[in-house]
Amino acid sequence: MAVPLPLAVFLAALLGSAPDFALAANPLSVVTSNTVLADLVANVGGDKVRVRSLAPAGTDPHTFQPTPDSIRTLSQARVAFFNGSGLEEWWDKTIHSVKKPDVPVIELSKGLATIRMPGHSPDGQSHAEGQDPHVWLDPNLVKAYVDKIRDALSQADGANSGFYADRAKTYQVKLDELDAWIRTEVEKIPIARRKIVTFHDAFQYFAHRYGLAVKGFVVVSPGKEPSAKALAELTRRIKEERIPAVFAEADFNAKLLEVLAKDAGVKVVTNLYDGSLSSGPPADTYINMLRHNVTQTVNALR
Ligand SMILES: [Zn+2]
Repeated sequence: MAVPLPLAVFLAALLGSAPDFALAANPLSVVTSNTVLADLVANVGGDKVRVRSLAPAGTDPHTFQPTPDSIRTLSQARVAFFNGSGLEEWWDKTIHSVKKPDVPVIELSKGLATIRMPGHSPDGQSHAEGQDPHVWLDPNLVKAYVDKIRDALSQADGANSGFYADRAKTYQVKLDELDAWIRTEVEKIPIARRKIVTFHDAFQYFAHRYGLAVKGFVVVSPGKEPSAKALAELTRRIKEERIPAVFAEADFNAKLLEVLAKDAGVKVVTNLYDGSLSSGPPADTYINMLRHNVTQTVNALR
């Protein structure tokens, strides 16, 4: 018996053999470099987009290694978003290997990455880029990411531009609420204790927005190990400046920071998120990630 085509499609969907990512004109196929950006796109695009992240949850966006599957996914995108400002060391090479000049590729941090990375990590290693790419950890700046996402989706899919505009506005209101909530939380920390030392130097934009001082970090970028001398110097500074706690991300091996905290006799928090969401709680969306980070930070500092 021949099954009518619409039913066949329906059955295929039911059985989980979704049509090829590329073949779906609607929803719009969108690819992002990491899961944080995928969540932002999903908030703007709703059911009109199908978004996929190249780096999966729990993967460091600096040093992710694209697979043949990443290339295939990217080759099917109708719009691609990356953070840029030097975050994704693998991005340019990956995009060039796909060679689709008609697909818009949007650098979301462009024009927003105003903080300079320190010229060197504590052990004097130079950093390839002078810009600090971790712009998205300031939700107020993420509102500008959302504008860019709305514009790019509207450009690629003009029929739904009103839909994207409405959703972008709704999400930006949530970001304003998040921003206000973070301010009231940070106010619970005595002013003299509003200072942090982090494992990797990712929290400058966040700290700048909410009046925290970043007093040091272990590595300028993941994968660059500091010297014993640099660590001893950082330990001395933590004691001298009376830093209440040191912070690391769940996705990195933060052994060094734990040793450092023990030597300095301070609290250590090892479950923050920045460049990747978690696949379940506590950081499964951008907003949940910031709420989680802030709760951890305020509890350790107050
Ligand atoms: Zn980073």
